[in-house]
Amino acid sequence: MMRRPEDELLELEQAGLRRYLRRLESPQQPNINLAGSGPCRNFSSNDYLGLANSEELRTIFAENILKYGAGSGASRLVCGTMDQHFLLEESLAELKRSEAALTFSSGFAAATSVISALCGKGDVVILDKLCHASLIDGARLSGAKIRVWPHNDLNKLRTRIAWAKRQVGKNGRILIVTESVFSMDGARAPLRDIVEIKNQQGALLLLDEAHAFGVFGPQGRGLAAEMALESEVDFQMGTFSKAAGLAGGYVCATRAFIDLLVNRARGFIYSTAPSPALAATIESALEIIAGEDGDRKRDTLWQRIHLLDDDARSAIIPILMGENDTALTASDVLLEKGFLVPAIRYPTVPRDSARLRVTLSAAHEEEDVIALRNALSELEPPTD
Ligand SMILES: *Cc1c(COP(=O)(O)O)cnc(C)c1O
Repeated sequence: MMRRPEDELLELEQAGLRRYLRRLESPQQPNINLAGSGPCRNFSSNDYLGLANSEELRTIFAENILKYGAGSGASRLVCGTMDQHFLLEESLAELKRSEAALTFSSGFAAATSVISALCGKGDVVILDKLCHASLIDGARLSGAKIRVWPHNDLNKLRTRIAWAKRQVGKNGRILIVTESVFSMDGARAPLRDIVEIKNQQGALLLLDEAHAFGVFGPQGRGLAAEMALESEVDFQMGTFSKAAGLAGGYVCATRAFIDLLVNRARGFIYSTAPSPALAATIESALEIIAGEDGDRKRDTLWQRIHLLDDDARSAIIPILMGENDTALTASDVLLEKGFLVPAIRYPTVPRDSARLRVTLSAAHEEEDVIALRNALSELEPPTD
């Protein structure tokens, strides 16, 4: 008999891995209303600069809908590309010091489409062990050989590349994929070393700046910019759904690579273009991020981060729990005290490394962060 979904759900439940959707009865902001739990302080979103529900972006978005329209009708290759999409890509490429850029409806679509368009049979994709699901799926879809290197372990990266060089065909590509700030542990990639290795070995580098764009570097341009390595990264990828507060994904690269992606990236070709109003609003978000207002928001964000944890090096602060149930219980205890801090479990993180994941925003008030710090210090430490 074919397996029943009820049985699969029960298995998940018994392993402490079943997920439920919670109803949010307020906009996405630091103080939210969760159905069943009432008002609480939100430490779960990736809205690092507090733009998602800002008065400024809401007004611009509303005006842009009236000016440019709500929907886009079809794929950009079919219906024609509206000016707002070209303008956004030109601004983004300029901001990222890149020849060209291409935008997608989500970061997930960007990751899966770009990797699977660039690589195929005869190529090798090498990923950091903690890479985001969208990057892994892109590698799987590509049909290339896949190798994973232990998180941020440069020696192992070298061995994987040496292996890859023996595998690839004559024109084969070796694509190294990593994140600048890892989404679940907040660690930074040793970017300078990775760039040196990939240049020595003649490989390509795709860097997912999802959690760094808007937060790091001059004008919030990302970790590559902070380390003055923008021109060394072949594919600067990222999303507009985190610090930019909206939705959509992007990749910046040479004109030739971007033209190739227009021809090959299936999540671009076979997907309706994002709303022109959204594209125009993202362009305004980029202006905010890159300007003095962005600098002020970053200052506030870093002040909030260091208020919670002096040693933190990104806006993501993981608190390791180990067991799924320990993490879930801690998350429940915090919720009862009025803090939304999600428990992150397998397969989002490796087995036995379930954790609480705190994310901070420039929109958080100092007293909220202090209150969370106190609540965290009252948690029972995990027993193992
Ligand atoms: C969130 C995230 C994505 C996906 O971006 P969306 O715009 O949310 O689809 C891709 N990569 C990483 C590392 C992420 O954290």
